[in-house]
Amino acid sequence: MSAQRKFERTLVTGALPYANGHIHLGHIAGAYLPADVYVRYKRLIGERVLFVCGSDEYGVPITLTALKEGISPNEVIDRYHTANADAFAGLGISFDIYGRTSWPLHTETTQAFFKNLYDGGYVEKQEMELWYSAQSDRFLPDRYVKGTCPKCGFDEATGDECERCGAQYSAHDLVDPHANIPGDSSTPELRKTVHWFLRLQDFTERLKPWLDSHPEWRANVKGIAYGWVNDLRSRCITRDTDWGVPIPLDDPDAAGKRFYVWFDNAIGYVTNTRRWGIDTRGDEQAWEEWWKDSGTRLLHFLGKDNVPFHTVMFPAYLMGQGDYILPDNVIGNEYLNIMNHETGKEEKGSKSKGNMISVRWLTAHFSTDAIRYYLCAIMPESRDAAFDWDEFLNRYNGELCDVVGNFVHRSLTMTVKNFDGRVPTPGPLDEADQALLDSLPQQLDEVAESLENFRFRQALERFIEIGRKANQYFDTKQPWVTRKTDLERTGTTLYCCCQVCRTLCTAMAPFVPEGAARLAALLGVALPAGGPDGGEDGWNAAKSGLPADSPLQKPEVLFPKLDKDVVDELAEEHARGEAF
Ligand SMILES: [Zn+2]
Repeated sequence: MSAQRKFERTLVTGALPYANGHIHLGHIAGAYLPADVYVRYKRLIGERVLFVCGSDEYGVPITLTALKEGISPNEVIDRYHTANADAFAGLGISFDIYGRTSWPLHTETTQAFFKNLYDGGYVEKQEMELWYSAQSDRFLPDRYVKGTCPKCGFDEATGDECERCGAQYSAHDLVDPHANIPGDSSTPELRKTVHWFLRLQDFTERLKPWLDSHPEWRANVKGIAYGWVNDLRSRCITRDTDWGVPIPLDDPDAAGKRFYVWFDNAIGYVTNTRRWGIDTRGDEQAWEEWWKDSGTRLLHFLGKDNVPFHTVMFPAYLMGQGDYILPDNVIGNEYLNIMNHETGKEEKGSKSKGNMISVRWLTAHFSTDAIRYYLCAIMPESRDAAFDWDEFLNRYNGELCDVVGNFVHRSLTMTVKNFDGRVPTPGPLDEADQALLDSLPQQLDEVAESLENFRFRQALERFIEIGRKANQYFDTKQPWVTRKTDLERTGTTLYCCCQVCRTLCTAMAPFVPEGAARLAALLGVALPAGGPDGGEDGWNAAKSGLPADSPLQKPEVLFPKLDKDVVDELAEEHARGEAF
C-alpha cells in the first residue's frame, strides 16, 4: 500500500471508450464504476480529485461504420459521443469532463507529444509491406482487410490481429486476405510503404525500475506489464487513413497518413484536462499541476485489454516528454461475462452472440443504484465475473433493500412516530449500546481502507456489514416491544440506530449516490460535493454523529425492491438479443 497522504491531489482517468458503439455493462464494471466509486469517496473526504474521460473518436472502425451506413465519420462520432455521455450520466458516473479526441486541442496536444518524442530520437521511419486494394486504390489498414488467422484459423481475422485468439502478426502472415470495404472484397496485393515507429525498446531501462517500484499493484496488472516490458520493440504509430491526427512533419511520406488511434488515445487524458482547465477555470495552464507536479497522484482505471498501453506504452510517451509525472497505479479489471440462463454457463459478451447489455437499455429499466450496487458486488477485480439475472435480483433485494434499506426504514419510522420527529435523547448506555456506537467509526474506517486499496467488493461488503450488525442490535433491543413499557430505553435504542443511519449514509454514498442523497435529506445532514479544489471532510464528519434533538423527516423507501416478474421479463428480452 503506498502512502496516499504524501500526494496533494489525485488525477483519475477512465479509459477513453470508442465512439463507434454504445457502452455496455462490461465497460462499466471494468473501468468506470470502480473509478467513480473511488472519486466519489475522495470528494467526500475532501481531497482534491479530478476525474477525466472522453470519447476516442479516430480510427478505422469509425470510418468503416461511416462507409457502411453511407454517412460521414463526424456523424458517427457525434451520435455515439452524445449517446455514451448520456449513458454515463444515467449511471451517475461523475466525470469532471467528458471530452473528445476530435477537438482541435487534441490535435495540438498529440502533435506536441509526438514532436517531443521525435526530437528526442525515439521515432524512426521504416519501410514495410502492407495490403493494398487496386480496386479501391488504397492501403487497407487494420479492419479494412480480413482473412484467416495464421495461428487459430479464425476466418474473420483482421490485418494484423485476431479477435478470437488475440494473436498479433505481420500483414503478410494473414491467410486468404480480402478487402473488407463495402463494394470491395477483392484480393489485395502487398505494396511497399513507409510508416513511423516509436522505439519502445529505448525505454526498457527506465520502465523496468519504475515497474519494480510498484509492488503494490494488482497481480494481474503486474503480470501483463512485465510480460510486455521484457520484449519491447519498435511499434508502428501511424496508419494509411485520412481520419485521425495529422503527422506534423514536413515529409511527403506523411501524406495520406495519420496517427494510429492507439498513439493518441491516452494523450486524450491530457487534452481533456487542458480543456477542463480552460472551461472551468478560464486558465490555459490549470492542467499542468495535474500532469507535471510530483504532488499529483495519477491513477488509470481500465479493463484488462488496456493494461499494456497504460503500464508500458503511455508511460514511455510520458517519459519521452521529460517533465510529466507517471501513473502511481493502474487499476486493471478482468472481464465481466454474461450468465446464459438456458445453459447455466458463463459466456463472453459479444455482438455476434447478441448477449451484450447496453447501459442505455439497462438504465431505462432499473434505478441507477440497483445497477451500481450489483455491479460493485460482482466487480471483476482479480478474476472474471458474470452478470446473472437471478443474482442481480437476489443481491439487490436481499442485501441493499432488506439489510440496509429495511434497517433505515424501521429505525426512522419508529423514531419519527414515537419521538416527535427528532433524534431521541439517550438515557444511560448499556454495554450493547456502547459497543454499537464504538464500532461505527471503526467500520467506516474499514470501508475507507478497502476503497483506498481499490478493493471495491470488499468495501461494499463492509458497508453491508454495518447494516447487518445494526439489524442484530435492533432485533435484540426490540424497540417495538419496549416502547409500550419503557420509553427511555426505547429512546436510547433508537438514538443508537439514528447514529447507524448517519454512518450508513456516508458509507453508501460512493456506491449508491441516489439513495445516499435521499437518506441525507431525511437525516438533515450534508454530504459535501468536494471536487478538484477539495473541500470539507464529509466522510469523517459522520463520526461525530447525529446530535440528540436533530429533526428527522418521515422516511420514504430508500431502495425500492425489484419485482421478480419484471426482472424475468427483461431477462427474456435479453435472451432474445434485445438488451442493446
Ligand atoms: Zn486467431
